Amino acid sequence: MTDSKTYDVVVLGAGPVGENVADRARAGGLSVAIVESELVGGECSYWACMPSKALLRPVIARADARKVPGLRQTVQGDLDAAAVLAHRDDYTSHWKDDGQVGWLESIGVDLYRGHGRIAGTRQVTVTGSDGTEQTLGARHAVVVCTGTRAALPELPGLADVKPWTSREATSADRVPARLAVVGGGVVAVEMATAWQALGSQVTLLVRGDGLLPRMEPFAGELVAKALTEAGADVRTNVSVTEVRRENGTVKATLSEGGTVEADEILFATGRAPRTDDLGLETIGLEPGSWLSVDDSLRVEGSSWLYAVGDANHRALLTHQGKYQARIAGAAITARAQGVPLLETDPWGAHSATADHDAVPQVVFTDPEAASAGLTLAEAESAGKRVRAVDYDMANVAGSGLYADGYEGRARMIVDLDREVLLGVTFVGPAVGELIHSATVAIAGQVPIDRLWHAVPAYPTISEVWLRLLETYRGA
Ligand SMILES: Cc1cc2nc3c(=O)[nH]c(=O)nc-3n(C[C@H](O)[C@H](O)[C@H](O)COP(=O)(O)OP(=O)(O)OC[C@H]3O[C@@H](n4cnc5c(N)ncnc54)[C@H](O)[C@@H]3O)c2cc1C
Repeated sequence: MTDSKTYDVVVLGAGPVGENVADRARAGGLSVAIVESELVGGECSYWACMPSKALLRPVIARADARKVPGLRQTVQGDLDAAAVLAHRDDYTSHWKDDGQVGWLESIGVDLYRGHGRIAGTRQVTVTGSDGTEQTLGARHAVVVCTGTRAALPELPGLADVKPWTSREATSADRVPARLAVVGGGVVAVEMATAWQALGSQVTLLVRGDGLLPRMEPFAGELVAKALTEAGADVRTNVSVTEVRRENGTVKATLSEGGTVEADEILFATGRAPRTDDLGLETIGLEPGSWLSVDDSLRVEGSSWLYAVGDANHRALLTHQGKYQARIAGAAITARAQGVPLLETDPWGAHSATADHDAVPQVVFTDPEAASAGLTLAEAESAGKRVRAVDYDMANVAGSGLYADGYEGRARMIVDLDREVLLGVTFVGPAVGELIHSATVAIAGQVPIDRLWHAVPAYPTISEVWLRLLETYRGA
């Protein structure tokens, strides 16, 4: 039986981004339905950010503690893997979404459980697990926040091996003795770091010539060095050509010849949009495609369809998706109220400008790698006249205080025509908490001459700012 109801806004997908779009639209006085096929809270809460960071926090804390004289000798033992996994389970609310469902109720958003599909202009159908169908109409907007799934390569034998994806890597309830990790991006290096520390013998198989290819090259170099020192086998310029499982053991054949044996194999080889079964064909869009949007997050060519978060492929990060959600919520509300959008102001309430210029990211490895804005290569390929300023973070007083033998590096990219920063990268212990200062400098387009007056406290790691500025000025 088909039931029908109309709202101002229908949101597809209740991950962190869908939840925030719903919240902002409600705050603007609009009625909102949200459709979720799995757990309210999305990939981030149950199989991505939250469990991965719960696994990594003790790893990083132990690594830091081992660099503090007087403390070092008290933290030489193994991690208590069972306790770490139990903490991870608590952190993911044991894969139950009651808390987040309660929050949706508290803000007056109606939750529909089931698979949502667009069924023509401003129409959505929701198919419940019992096969019942509900039709939802949207007076103002349908917002696609359906996120991504792991993308697996076409490889002989892969399905039979039952490989880990990010889901298994973040939710496994036991530590495999040997873990092969395929990939060199953020998920691969974070999970390699976590499972090596939890007791697995990790072999990291990287197709390119370094790790973290989207960051400055020194980030991948320092993380690879630390992973190797932790006991992982890091191999670059290798491709897996075939996998099979024999008597429980996974055997991965390598392009260069030879095989790697493991108990589990994780493929961290990219993400694919969850738009393949979304009814996009009913409105002339390509199923399975990333949805291209303008800066108000509205799908190109549509007056009512928005795509926010991972689904639009602008920046596959929770915080950036939630930023987009705030912008989209404001834009939808303004359009619903007939208020002209502030489209002429790139830094106004209705334009996700930071997606282009000021995206921050932290890789929670030992050492941490954190960046905001553009790398040198990105700035140069954008045709900017730039200078890269580098500094060895070991020479900062606060770094030496933080950790004995602190190793790290910083780089800022200066736009020589405007004398503002286009990008900053820090690698080293505890730099994750430092990167917001760079985001503020980049998004605020703070002139270098004014940054000179932003005095970092002594003796903190933030003094790296002073050293970078001195290096730039030749002081
Ligand atoms: C291992 C890992 C670690 C990560 N760590 C971090 C981190 O530390 N920090 C960070 O910023 N980012 C991190 N990310 C990225 C982050 O998880 C994503 O950017 C974020 O989850 C995107 O949010 P979203 O709401 O767009 O999509 P998702 O979180 O994927 O949520 C989408 C929701 O839509 C639902 N859905 C899909 N299709 C339908 C449908 N047809 N009908 C109804 N519901 C549907 C899904 O069930 C899901 O609940 C990590 C990713 C991975 C894989």
